Amino acid sequence: MLSAQGSMSTRTLEATLAQIHAEVQPLFGRGKVADYIPALAQVPSQQFGMAVALVDGTTCSVGDAHVPFSLQSITKLFAFVMALKTVGDALWLRVGREPSGAAFNSMVQLETEHGIPRNPFINAGALVVTDILTTRYAHLDYALLGALRRLTDDPDLTWNMRIAKSERENAHRNMALAYFMKSYGNFVNPPELVLDNYCRQCATEMSCAQLAQATMFLANDGLDIGRNGAPGEQFLAADEARRVNALMLTCGAYDAAGDFAYRIGLPVKTGVGGGIVAIAPGRGTVAVWSPELDAKGNSVLGAFALERLVQLGWSARLKSDA
Ligand code: GLN
Repeated sequence: MLSAQGSMSTRTLEATLAQIHAEVQPLFGRGKVADYIPALAQVPSQQFGMAVALVDGTTCSVGDAHVPFSLQSITKLFAFVMALKTVGDALWLRVGREPSGAAFNSMVQLETEHGIPRNPFINAGALVVTDILTTRYAHLDYALLGALRRLTDDPDLTWNMRIAKSERENAHRNMALAYFMKSYGNFVNPPELVLDNYCRQCATEMSCAQLAQATMFLANDGLDIGRNGAPGEQFLAADEARRVNALMLTCGAYDAAGDFAYRIGLPVKTGVGGGIVAIAPGRGTVAVWSPELDAKGNSVLGAFALERLVQLGWSARLKSDA
């Protein structure tokens, strides 16, 4: 449904995205592409894409918004949603929902907190989520892929085998986290099996345009809007969508979550592939990607672009157009 007002907001948004695209250019070189997963280090750094999807079906994008990139920790969001749908509140017996204030791959809190990770978005918490799902699904990798293919309407969506293998061969720290949690009785399956699933999950590739579409249900009370004449799907209960957004706001950017909330003020999930997705409940979603990361593992250009988008009046404009 693209009304005259809708097309007006699209034009405004197009100009805003073009302006941001120009403004980010001088920032190339300020960050560093992730290299602890060797295959990720080979991604050309000078890329930037941004896509916005509104709940009325309008979409708008700029730059490399249709280039697939490695989702990495952004997949923790989808795995967490899948676990909520599968086991519900039982999830909270094995993982907390407090910000950690520590690096995404930190293990320091695990000892004093008896193997219960602070939240589902740090690596330890995501590994527990993948462990829970590994128990429920015989082929978790394909189950997750199936859900993502449905959300993006892209039957060809897949993981990058080279990146999955590269992470798996270097997953010493994540393996240590899994074994450490197992020593506390908070890990059910063999860590090797869960790590196989986790590394494939993290290596899933999507473009900004696809990521904005795939997260639409979080901006829309759990309802994924229908496209191309197809009916919408209640992907998650409205209450649960609200809770996922709360977790993203408080924990979605690890030890930079407070800074992101202050600068951008929207629920986000970041990944070391350089992607960030932000949710504006009731309005729409924004996905941004640029591979150079800051010291906390978040995209330098991506964070700047999101901050500029909210500063330029994105939310206010959409509100008055609605
Ligand atoms: N696969 C990466 C890891 O486990 C994801 C980390 C991230 O994106 N922050 O280290």
